[in-house]
Amino acid sequence: MNETLKAAGHIGAELAAAKADLQREMERHRKTWRQLEQVTGLLREACELIQEQDARIEVDMLPAGRVLMSRIRAALSQQAEPQSSCKWTRDEDTGAYGTACGATWHLIDGGEPEEHGQYYCHHCGKQIDDEGADHE
Ligand SMILES: [Zn+2]
Repeated sequence: MNETLKAAGHIGAELAAAKADLQREMERHRKTWRQLEQVTGLLREACELIQEQDARIEVDMLPAGRVLMSRIRAALSQQAEPQSSCKWTRDEDTGAYGTACGATWHLIDGGEPEEHGQYYCHHCGKQIDDEGADHE
């Protein structure tokens, strides 16, 4: 095997390792996102339950309780909606994608994120909204 082929093989192996790393990273993002959605759902339920009880009980909620409730509501309203996504815009010249969250992503083999099994932005963890891609 000549040196060039060896070098190419080495680069190929490194790329494969990097790709595997990225896929693990995305899977972690996905898990974190799912957990976040679960916790958010539980918090919403807890808020509703507390509100319901508060309406039935004659005694006023403690001021600290009211503050906590308003903080939870504020946090929930800031929480990205489940459908929220990160817009990826493709640069026609370079083929690289600019992400709405400020990263640049170049798919080595070209193509659309979906073809590479990429559904979530590696940078912000939101679902990818790749404009210009042909979706059904
Ligand atoms: Zn993003």
